[in-house]
Amino acid sequence: MEILKAENLKAYYLLDIGGKLHSVRAVDDINISIKENEIYGIAGESGCGKSTLIKTLYGMVEPPLNVVDGKVYYRIDNEYKNIFSLNGALESIRWNYISYIPQGSMSVLNPVVKIIESFWDFIGSRVDISDKSTWRKNIEEHFALLGLPTKVLDAYPHQLSGGMRQRVTIALATILSPKIIVADEPSTALDVVAQRAVIQLLKEIQKNLKNTIILVTHDMGVHASISDRIAIMYAGKIVEEAPTSEIFESPRHPYTKYLIGALPKIGDKSYKVSAPGAPPSLLNSPSGCRFHPRCSQAMEECKVNVPELISVNSEHRVACFLYSKEREL
Ligand code: SF4
Repeated sequence: MEILKAENLKAYYLLDIGGKLHSVRAVDDINISIKENEIYGIAGESGCGKSTLIKTLYGMVEPPLNVVDGKVYYRIDNEYKNIFSLNGALESIRWNYISYIPQGSMSVLNPVVKIIESFWDFIGSRVDISDKSTWRKNIEEHFALLGLPTKVLDAYPHQLSGGMRQRVTIALATILSPKIIVADEPSTALDVVAQRAVIQLLKEIQKNLKNTIILVTHDMGVHASISDRIAIMYAGKIVEEAPTSEIFESPRHPYTKYLIGALPKIGDKSYKVSAPGAPPSLLNSPSGCRFHPRCSQAMEECKVNVPELISVNSEHRVACFLYSKEREL
């Protein structure tokens, strides 16, 4: 069953440049349905709008970012609620219904207090923590469940490695057992070993809490190891969506093919080709299919018309004229 849906979602940065208002179309007409108990990955190159998309799904929309159209629904008590109509009530469901893991742990952990104090600040504004000894026990049990040493609760953030700080941030974001976790490049700034630990931790959490994780990362290797389904974003739009195995085994969109083709494989010494050129500016995106200036299969209509996301089977959608009904390959 779906737990979160976005319909025709458009979120633009409205910028005043030289006295003229310009739109950076970071999220441009997105329709997605995310299921309960799945890890939904969002992939794409830097600057494609994926971080803006999850911020918008989380309701973290502040100027210059504006939702110019569309809706985001959460399923709460078996009812779909449009989060942009919840106003103040949205704040009250943050962290116990939906939580957010940002890219940098230091934007969550207070650098001048011990970790346990960050927990008190954080959960104290959401639940009654007057019985601190019981809560301390709960936090320690949560740490044990996640395989984290409880002694870090009495450390300062600067005494921990970057990887450990990020795992503590994840523990903090999950202490109230949220139904949905949105994670923005949670392992990107870490070394390979710490990265693996963070990914393993997210997997464990999903297994234990049976919740939904929406994971943004440009790293297709991370998606391969953790995501159940993947949406590929390009220049503010979703261009392909399918179960992970299908994305890797039979990618359809030319851009997805480049992303998969550029991945290193053990024992494969062949030359890897990435997509030619660079991603377009979202301030002035190409007409028609936004990928057309980089696409080796572009046709005349690609320069003029925008391809819709169509289903190629019950679980696989792609936005490319090569897959319109008349031209099905
Ligand atoms: Fe390439 Fe055209 Fe497909 Fe866009 S619609 S990806 S330009 S073939």
